[in-house]
Amino acid sequence: MIFDTHCHLNAKELYKDHEKYIISAKNEGVAAFLVVGYDYLSSKIAVELAEKFDFIYAAVGYHPVDVLKAKTSELEKTFELLKHPKVVALGEIGLDYHWIEDASEREKQKEFFIRQIELANENELPIIIHNRDATNDTYQILKEHKVNKGGIMHCYSGSLAMAIELIKLGFYISMGGPVTFKNARVPKEVVKAIPLDKLLVETDCPYLAPHPLRGTINEPKNIVYTVKEIAELREKSIEEIEKTTFNNAKKILGL
Ligand SMILES: [Zn+2]
Repeated sequence: MIFDTHCHLNAKELYKDHEKYIISAKNEGVAAFLVVGYDYLSSKIAVELAEKFDFIYAAVGYHPVDVLKAKTSELEKTFELLKHPKVVALGEIGLDYHWIEDASEREKQKEFFIRQIELANENELPIIIHNRDATNDTYQILKEHKVNKGGIMHCYSGSLAMAIELIKLGFYISMGGPVTFKNARVPKEVVKAIPLDKLLVETDCPYLAPHPLRGTINEPKNIVYTVKEIAELREKSIEEIEKTTFNNAKKILGL
């Protein structure tokens, strides 16, 4: 049984055929999915999918790139969804300096990040972190703004030392398709060394398809490649990695 802790069945590439993708994933042993929002519409669809399927859960929130163009009314409608019983996390939120170079826009990202951390605490929810090329600022904010229910570092690509610091702050480390890439030296090192009870798996589909499907539209069933890679790196059985990461996901999401 696998828990895909970060998928975008709410994205246009997958939503139109979501039932098909869900069935193929279930056939490969994916038993639970966290569909993650990044703006109002995707958050709303995440909640709708969670209402339709009992094994789907939703995260709602504003991604650091999308938040810059969000209307106040859309932000409000998104945050109203936090009260829904199948919303188990606030996300994805964080900082993205890869796509945003302007200093004032980066400041705005920080403000929205902190505001959404406060909302997570008000609603007693964990958070899902998106961090791209902004590790130091992300860590600084998380250190200064304690998240009571902890959270998930989605598609973690940082160093082992930083992973250990984030675990100390209450975070789980989620690995996606990139850990299967041949040249992924650092992610493989992280998987080998972090405590197994802090490890999660995800696809981030439709993005980041694992090897040997790199470059194609990713879907939840492809998570098996990531699980297999982790099992090899940890010298454990696939079943054990599935079981441990599934239980870790339930724990952080309060299920
Ligand atoms: Zn995502």
